Amino acid sequence: MNLAACTALLAALAAAPNLHGQGLMPDSTALRLLRTDVYTLADDSMRGRETGTPDEQKAGAYLVKRFKQTGLAPRGDSGTFLNAFQYAAMPITGPGNALQLGRNKLKPGDDFYPLGYAANAHVLTRVARCKYGIVAPQKQRNDFDGVDVAGRAACMSISSPDGIHPHSAWLPYNDLRTRIDNAVQRGANAVIFYNDDPDKADDPPAGFTMKLQPSSVPVVFLTKSGLAKLGQDGDPVVITTDIVREEKTGHNVVGYLGNGRPYTVVVGAHYDHLGMGQEGSLYRGAPAIHNGADDNASGVAVLLQLAADVQRMPNARNNNYLFIAFSGEEKGLYGSSAWTKHATLPIDSINYMLNMDMVGRLDSSGHLAINGTGTSPAWAGITNLKAGNLNIKTSDGGIGPSDHTSFYLQGVPAIHFFTGSHEDYHKPGDDADKINYPGMLRVTRYIEAVIGALNDSTKLTFTKTADTDTSEAPRFTVTLGVVPDYMYDGKGLRIDGVTEGKPAALAGLKAGDVVTALGDHPTPDMMGYMKALGLFKKGDDAQVTFLRDGKETKAQVHFK
Ligand SMILES: [Zn+2]
Repeated sequence: MNLAACTALLAALAAAPNLHGQGLMPDSTALRLLRTDVYTLADDSMRGRETGTPDEQKAGAYLVKRFKQTGLAPRGDSGTFLNAFQYAAMPITGPGNALQLGRNKLKPGDDFYPLGYAANAHVLTRVARCKYGIVAPQKQRNDFDGVDVAGRAACMSISSPDGIHPHSAWLPYNDLRTRIDNAVQRGANAVIFYNDDPDKADDPPAGFTMKLQPSSVPVVFLTKSGLAKLGQDGDPVVITTDIVREEKTGHNVVGYLGNGRPYTVVVGAHYDHLGMGQEGSLYRGAPAIHNGADDNASGVAVLLQLAADVQRMPNARNNNYLFIAFSGEEKGLYGSSAWTKHATLPIDSINYMLNMDMVGRLDSSGHLAINGTGTSPAWAGITNLKAGNLNIKTSDGGIGPSDHTSFYLQGVPAIHFFTGSHEDYHKPGDDADKINYPGMLRVTRYIEAVIGALNDSTKLTFTKTADTDTSEAPRFTVTLGVVPDYMYDGKGLRIDGVTEGKPAALAGLKAGDVVTALGDHPTPDMMGYMKALGLFKKGDDAQVTFLRDGKETKAQVHFK
């Protein structure tokens, strides 16, 4: 559908009389609206709705218009529909990186590149070679013995005495961040890595795929051509590092429907997607628009339909309703996490939360997954609802890869509706013409039945769930069972939530703790934590070092 046709339809609807109390919107009208909203949000002109871009703002402006048309009142920041949140953007290499070794000016990108651990600085220093930069007292090895790196650039190989592989005897010591810290503790004012062992060690990636916690000094990697220019101990070095670490702003869209009741139901769906696919895409190829029709224009379209219908449902008057189109979901639940921590209405007045993420691909079996049914005993009753003629499949866990997790972690009963994954997931092929619109309407009718069934003035009882952590990366054989705080940018890994019955919970760790080491392995950031975790296997015991209220604390975990 083109944009002009869509505007005409929306204008006609806005002019229609308010049907308050006169029954649901007819199926034919609802279907046209669901289509219009998905086609509009998943149009190439929205360029994939990436958080923190003008495309997100364009999609947000469309939603503000739709929220208004639907009769919602603004409930974002200072009387508007928009609710801003800040997040740390993925770092990018700036234009100012420079390295001079002796008389040789090196070429950024070709001869060297800065690593994500680099602080931005300009340093005049001298070469101090220190082998691998490994300090392993248990193995009687200290690469800094006899080397004074104070006030020097510590130059070290990224390999280890027996290479870099999972069975290396030096595995616990070869994390790059640990080696940087070894050098900095001894007074180094820069770190220069190189790879003199290319058969047994890979070059670190150029560019940034994760938010690494920067150290206090410049850190660069010399490529093969750069390494050829590295001189002797004492040779002069001039380093300038320039990494752009930007604080960005995303926007949730928040609208309210008051019925003068004590409790409010939150209905949420994220509207952001992957933009051109640089971050989070499963597609390998030239940058392409990721339209995200199923993920998650579908959920937003259902949310808008619910906002219209709830006003017409006599059996929905015992709660107020807050509709939130979240942003920042694809980058790590940023929008919902920020909203629950700075909620625009009291969090303990929230009755329950419904999240729609990917509800556009109902298949012929009519399977609708509902995740999070362990978050309240009240959910047990909803599986019998016949509306939509669906085949309901439930799972208990309150922690999953979407925004309901943020509410669960704040003690709010929360469930996630999902029609299943598919081959276009997180690829440019997730387009509006592949959506099952009658299927979306069936899901909408089912959710309306849920809202109707829970229409009494009492608040749902919250229960914690004991289940598998779906955010667990598959390449690990063990899990601690924690949800990392992706917004945290201090040193260590801050826990946003723990999964009941998993090693961290059993060892007494809780939300707010900052993990700084697993066993002997420091966890200075998310990457360090993942690397350390990868070293353990089922049956292992390990001491976790963490900060609680700023105090260093230790606990024993058992990986099972
Ligand atoms: Zn997604």
